[in-house]
Amino acid sequence: MTQGWRELDVGVVGGGIGGMSVAIALRRAGHKVTIYEKRDFSGEVGASVSCAANGTRWLHEWDVDVAKGDPVVLKKLINRDWKTGEPVSIYDLDDYEKRWGYVYNMFHRQYMHAMLKDTALQEEGEGQPATLLVNHSNTARHDLIVGADGIGSAVRGIIGLTPEKTPSEQSCLHANVSTEDVVRLGLVDYSEDAALEYWGGQEGKWDKIVLSPCNGGKLLSYYCFFPRAVGDYTTQSWGVEDRPVKELLAPYPELDRQVFEHLKIGKEVQPWRLWVHQPYPYITRAQVALLGDAGHPMMPHQSQGACMAIEDAAALGILFSKKYFNGDIAESLAVYQEIRLPRVTRVQSAAARAAYNINERIGFSNNKNLALYNVEDEKNKLTIEEMNAYDMYKDVEEQLAKKRNTPYTEKYLQGLPIGLALPNGVVIGAA
Ligand SMILES: Cc1cc2nc3c(=O)[nH]c(=O)nc-3n(C[C@H](O)[C@H](O)[C@H](O)COP(=O)(O)OP(=O)(O)OC[C@H]3O[C@@H](n4cnc5c(N)ncnc54)[C@H](O)[C@@H]3O)c2cc1C
Repeated sequence: MTQGWRELDVGVVGGGIGGMSVAIALRRAGHKVTIYEKRDFSGEVGASVSCAANGTRWLHEWDVDVAKGDPVVLKKLINRDWKTGEPVSIYDLDDYEKRWGYVYNMFHRQYMHAMLKDTALQEEGEGQPATLLVNHSNTARHDLIVGADGIGSAVRGIIGLTPEKTPSEQSCLHANVSTEDVVRLGLVDYSEDAALEYWGGQEGKWDKIVLSPCNGGKLLSYYCFFPRAVGDYTTQSWGVEDRPVKELLAPYPELDRQVFEHLKIGKEVQPWRLWVHQPYPYITRAQVALLGDAGHPMMPHQSQGACMAIEDAAALGILFSKKYFNGDIAESLAVYQEIRLPRVTRVQSAAARAAYNINERIGFSNNKNLALYNVEDEKNKLTIEEMNAYDMYKDVEEQLAKKRNTPYTEKYLQGLPIGLALPNGVVIGAA
C-alpha cells in the first residue's frame, strides 16, 4: 500500500453507465461510495449500447457478470450501399478477441445498466457495496465528488464550465424491431450476421442507418440519421411519447427496401437529440471530477460514449487504488485530467468526422484499400490499434512519475507501446 493512502468518502452524482462503473472501480479501490441519482430508472426505453474491447476489458477486470447483459458478440462491421444494401466495406472481427484479448459486445442499455448496478451494489465482490439513493435531492458532503450526471450535467456548471455547443446538422430517430416479427413476416433476418451494420455513410451526407443487434439477437436496435433540415428534434428528449412510424420513414425514399421493411415495423420510435460540444478546457476542479458525457459528450458515430465513461471510471479506480494513491487528491485528479482529456478529445473529434464519413469510423478506418476510401487527414484518423493497445496503467505510471519526479522507464508513451506502427503511418514514439 502506498504511504498516505486513506479511505475516501465519495459522492457520485448520476447513476447511469458511468456512475455505476465508477462506483464499481472505487469500491474495489477501498472507498465508500454513495451514488445520487435524479431518477429511478423506471420507464426507460431500450436501445443498444456497444462495448468494444477497450470497455469490455474493464468489465472483466471488475468481475462484472457480463452474461447478465445478454450481449451479442459482434463478428463484423458491415457498411452497405444506401440503395442496394450490397456490402461496400466490411471490417472482420474474427481475430478481434485474439488480437485484443476481449470481445466486442453489443448490449441492450437497460441490461448493461442493470449488470453494472448489481456489481456496484451487491455484497459479493471486492470492497464495500456502494449505496444508491434514487429520486434524490438533498445536500451532502464528501471527500471527492464525481460528476457522472450525463450530457446535461449540473456538476459541470458548478465547476464553472459553460459548454460551447451547437445543434448538430444531423437528426436521429431510434426504433426497435423484434427479430421474431422479422422472421414471422419473412423479412431478411439481419440478426444472423451478428454485425454492426450501416447503410450509407460514404456519400458525405448526414443520412445513415445503423443497425445493432442486442439481447442475444432478439432485438434489432436501429439508429436512423438524416439532415436536421428534414426533421428537427434538437429540443426533444428521449423518453417522451413515441413518434409515429411515418416520421421515421419519411426521410428515406431511396433507402434499400429490405431494411426499409424493417423500419416499417419499428416500435418505440424516439428522437435522440444531437448537440456538438467543443472539448471542455478542464474536467476537474478542487475535489470534483467529471466523468462520461458530463465531461465529454460526443456524437455517437464511433460507438465509444459508454466505453469512454468506463475508461474514465477505470482511471479513477487506478489513481485512487492502494498502489497509486498517496492521500493527495489534487495530484490524483491532475493525473486523471492529463490522461483522460487528450484521449477523449481525440475520440470526440473523430466521432464528429465519422458523422458524415464512415471511413473515419474505427475499424472502417483500416480499410484503406477500398476504392471508396477517403479520410480528411490520413495521419490523424482514429485507429482500432490505439483504442485497444492502450495500457492505462502505463499511462498513469508515466504521468505520476512526472508529478513525483521519479524515473519512468517503461517503453510506453501515453499508454501506447513505443514502436507500435498504426495503420495511419504514425509510429508511437517516432519523432
Ligand atoms: C439512445 C442512446 C444510444 C447510445 N448508443 C451508444 C452506443 O452504441 N455505444 C456507446 O458507447 N455509447 C452509446 N450511447 C452513449 C452512452 O449511452 C453514453 O455515452 C453513456 O451512457 C455515458 O454514460 P454517462 O454515465 O456519462 O451518462 P448517462 O448514462 O446518461 O447517465 C447519466 C445519469 O445521471 C442522471 N442525472 C442527470 N442529472 C442529474 C442530477 N442533477 N443529479 C443526479 N443524477 C442526475 C441521469 O438520470 C442518468 O441516470 C448512447 C446513448 C443514447 C441516449
